[in-house]
Amino acid sequence: MIFRTHLAFGFLIGLIVFYFQFVENGILFFLFLFFGIGFPDVDNNKSKFGRKSFFKIVNLFFKHRGIFHSLIFGIILSWPIYFFDKDAGAGLFLGFLSHIILDSFTKQGVRIFYPLSNLNARGFIKTGGNLEKIIFYFFILLDILVVAKLLNSIIL
Ligand SMILES: [Zn+2]
Repeated sequence: MIFRTHLAFGFLIGLIVFYFQFVENGILFFLFLFFGIGFPDVDNNKSKFGRKSFFKIVNLFFKHRGIFHSLIFGIILSWPIYFFDKDAGAGLFLGFLSHIILDSFTKQGVRIFYPLSNLNARGFIKTGGNLEKIIFYFFILLDILVVAKLLNSIIL
């Protein structure tokens, strides 16, 4: 999936968690959420993150949708941060998880338990295709609805 679709979906997950008041520090939560959403694609030199020069080095050593697209890695990354700050750790993991969930619907798929297992979770969606565009706008619509609901509950 392309970056904006990941962003729209990850933000939606974050908003829902925030809406049900599971989060104390919203700023920290969303900051780490956005980091988690973008992080897995550091291994992709066509992605927003992967284009940065530091991540070009990462690309040399790690295949796209290898270790950085594994939930095992997401847990290893989020666990220590969770002990430091629950909202930051939870945000990071949720962002990461939302990325992996979306990519598992693509034709290319994603090895969710790599390197423990080579099981490839895949679907039927072509990355950057028309179906993804429709999904993107659907997520944006849901984002707006949840934000409106949030604002409503703050004001009233
Ligand atoms: Zn990805």
